[in-house]
Amino acid sequence: MPTTLDSPAAAQETSGTAEDVPHEPAECRNCGTRLTGRYCHACGQQAHLHATLGDLLSEMFEGVAHFDGRLWRTLPLLVFRPGELSRRWKAGERAKFVHPLHVFLFAVFLVFTAPYVTGQASEPLELQRVETRIEAAGGQVVGAAPGQEVDLGELETTAFGRFLKKTIAKLDTPEERAYFRTKYMAMAYKLAWVVAPLSMLILALLMAFRPGYTLYDHGVVSLYGLGFFGLLLSIAMLLPRAVAGVWEAVLPIVLPIHAMVHLRGAYGLSWVGASLRSVALGAMTLVAFGLFLAGVFALTTAA
Ligand SMILES: [Zn+2]
Repeated sequence: MPTTLDSPAAAQETSGTAEDVPHEPAECRNCGTRLTGRYCHACGQQAHLHATLGDLLSEMFEGVAHFDGRLWRTLPLLVFRPGELSRRWKAGERAKFVHPLHVFLFAVFLVFTAPYVTGQASEPLELQRVETRIEAAGGQVVGAAPGQEVDLGELETTAFGRFLKKTIAKLDTPEERAYFRTKYMAMAYKLAWVVAPLSMLILALLMAFRPGYTLYDHGVVSLYGLGFFGLLLSIAMLLPRAVAGVWEAVLPIVLPIHAMVHLRGAYGLSWVGASLRSVALGAMTLVAFGLFLAGVFALTTAA
């Protein structure tokens, strides 16, 4: 009986049938396939089933330690050699890295919890700007005469800004605005996943003339890329206000460079090909992000 068991239970198992050992059943408890090792070869479940509280704790620490190892292999690559990470994942080196979807979901989680950790305002930047302007105008919007226009400056230059201004101006009290912010953030959190398929499609468009790549490949690149973006964003929110300003100024430089390096490595592009595509990617991402915010906004106000 071929076995890779190395626990005391394994020694017993070699001398008798698996049924002799209470914790090592002969058949997989999950799918019923006959077991020949520590893991079911049909479904992958462990033969040994944890049952005690001690088991539960050790399982947890095992899981954490296992994740820890993958995390410290994934993170440096994600930051400095993203293209290599995506390429190696695609080539089949999967067990040693954190799944791109997990990186993305964790980043989304961080982006939306970071503001609560620091106790900083959790509203998006646009809302903060409007509020600041309202304060600067001496609270003119609050209790403004019907139809009275309030100068909201540069916000007027974007469709989203105009859209935002109209809605904010309708909210009379700070309580109403706070309620709106909460609803807005909840909606944004609910819809954050939309960003992933959107950026996957953008990548598919950009790589349309280079055959040999599937939507899966684009998905991996976009999930790792967005994960990195989310990590930087949440760091910006976790930093003290004074430093955060510098960090936010650096982001628009770091992100395109990271995207270019990522594209170049993941798709084996030339520097020129990678640069052109990352510029296009940036432009399309801005448009997509604007549409996303407008969508969140429309759904918030409609709700
Ligand atoms: Zn099984």
